[in-house]
Order: sequence, then C-alpha cells, then structure tokens
Amino acid sequence: MSKWEPTEEEIAWTKGVVDNLDIGQDWMEGEMAFRRTGDATLTLLTRTERAEMASRRVEVVLQMLDWHLDMDSVKVIPDDPMLAAEMMQQEAQSWMCPNCNEHPVVNMPLERAEWMVSGQNRYVDDEGNERLADRWVVAITCECEELTYLSPDDYYLIAGETLFYTWEGWFPMQPEQICEAVDKGYWDDLSAQALGSSRGSKPVPPHMRGLMCVRRKGEEEE
Ligand SMILES: [Zn+2]
Repeated sequence: MSKWEPTEEEIAWTKGVVDNLDIGQDWMEGEMAFRRTGDATLTLLTRTERAEMASRRVEVVLQMLDWHLDMDSVKVIPDDPMLAAEMMQQEAQSWMCPNCNEHPVVNMPLERAEWMVSGQNRYVDDEGNERLADRWVVAITCECEELTYLSPDDYYLIAGETLFYTWEGWFPMQPEQICEAVDKGYWDDLSAQALGSSRGSKPVPPHMRGLMCVRRKGEEEE
C-alpha cells in the first residue's frame, strides 16, 4: 500500500476548519469528534472502530500544518450500532451530578424533567447557508437542589424512550390505539390532542410536535 498523501485542497480545507475553532470548541467530522484543546492542538474525543484510518489521515494533515493531534484518551465506539448504543447506555449509568458529585443522574427524578431552550446553535444547511436553531436542554433537579442539564440525546440515553416521549404529562398514542378509539367511538372521551409548537407559555420540544397525545392518568394540566 502506498503512503497516503493529502491534496492541496484537503490541507487548505482542514486549515480553514481548525483555524476557525475556538479553544474548547468541538468539530464533528464523519464518525470522529474532535475538540480544539490548545493553540495548535486538537484532541480526538471519540471515533468509531472503522474511522481509525480516517483519524490517521487527519493526523497527517495536521502535522503538515504544524498542529498536534492528541489521540491518547480517545473513546472508540463499536461499529455495530446495537453495541454502540449499549456501550453509551452503560456509560450513562455512571454519570454523576456535576455539582455535588454524590448523586448519580440515573437516580434523579427523570420523570420530572424540564425541557427548555438555552440559547442557539449555529449550523450550516444543505445549501451552505449558516442558520440558527434553538438549543434544547433537559433540566433535572438533584437531591442537592442544583439543576443538572442534559442534552436531549443524553436524556434519551439515561431516561429511555418512554420518558423521552413524555412531556408535561403528555405522551403519544400508538397508531393502533388511535384506530381503536375511532372505531369504538370513545375518541371524544380521551381528550387526545396533537401537540403544536407551544402549550400555554411553554414551547413544545420539537420531537413532540404534531404527535397525537393523551395525558398521563391522574395528571391535571396546570
Ligand atoms: Zn447534586
């Protein structure tokens, strides 16, 4: 196998990316996640098993730019998505409250999570235009009374699908439940509703919008 050589374009493109990162800022590329950790240092945080070669290539390009790629503490994620999900779920079980460092997040009242918008994320759309999107966080109160904030993905990992798809006591009906309710004529008794973009003063998290939902038993709307 001949030694891989980056093209001029690849070098210039990578230089453009890394020069524009703030220290502490992350860069996702393919199946790799990097963070700028110094003036000329990039740290590889995670990669999949199969992205090993890709990460070596990034290292070669960075060397040409007099940058260092730190791969010492990289977390390697299995290629098999089932194994990868299992690994991430297992890890989530060990997360601790960042405030007191005494209570595991998994033991917090996950069902009383508060979804909120905290600033905005910048992203580039398919046409190359820079756009802004709401950054959602999920707040959970620890026994130490401090709030712990999780990203929606992290909340899904630790709380599971059912809680993820429950918001303010609303949860989605299954398609067969909807059919049954219509067939048997008790549709009106259910007070089922499709959630819009907000309810009262609260914005509805994007993954719940447009879903036909009913309320958890015994919960009154405030
Ligand atoms: Zn705590």
